[in-house]
Amino acid sequence: MMLQLTEERKKAIVENDKSYDDQFFYAVKTTNIFCRPSCKSRVPNFDNVTIFTQAEDALKAGYRPCKHCKSGGNSLPDEEWISHVEMYIKENYSNPLTLTSIAEHCHSSSYHLHRVFKKIKGITPLEYVQQLRIEKAEKYLVQTDLPIQEIGRLVGITNASRFSTVFKEKNSQTPSQFRKRRGNK
Ligand SMILES: [Zn+2]
Repeated sequence: MMLQLTEERKKAIVENDKSYDDQFFYAVKTTNIFCRPSCKSRVPNFDNVTIFTQAEDALKAGYRPCKHCKSGGNSLPDEEWISHVEMYIKENYSNPLTLTSIAEHCHSSSYHLHRVFKKIKGITPLEYVQQLRIEKAEKYLVQTDLPIQEIGRLVGITNASRFSTVFKEKNSQTPSQFRKRRGNK
């Protein structure tokens, strides 16, 4: 159902008043996105705003849910969010990543990120980071002549013996054994 844009509702939007979150959603024509009153996004031009009682109504009217206030509730697919997390990890695996730093960057708590990531990918975010690092390391080992310690550094594991251990856990051989066998092909 659509509601009137009253002064009271405008005020709730301007002040990000959480107590109105159960009462309505506001959709913005120019961005095509709908938000909860508490959303910290920029205050819209009220000429372009439509008020809905339900998220489904806004969706039916063709608006998309907001990522920040999760106005779509469950209809904002976790998959989409997790693919953003994945992209972030892919771009940053060579930096020292922690669960907390990933979660902070992706606007979530560590607990939530860990749980949702595992549900969708079958492994935890940090396992994913490690997997990515090892895959890259394998490429470097086969395709380059870079020293092993340097390869460790390039994939975000600066400690050489730690790199060797992590690598061996995945491949049941050390980086140099791996390089020798693959290189001989
Ligand atoms: Zn929002």
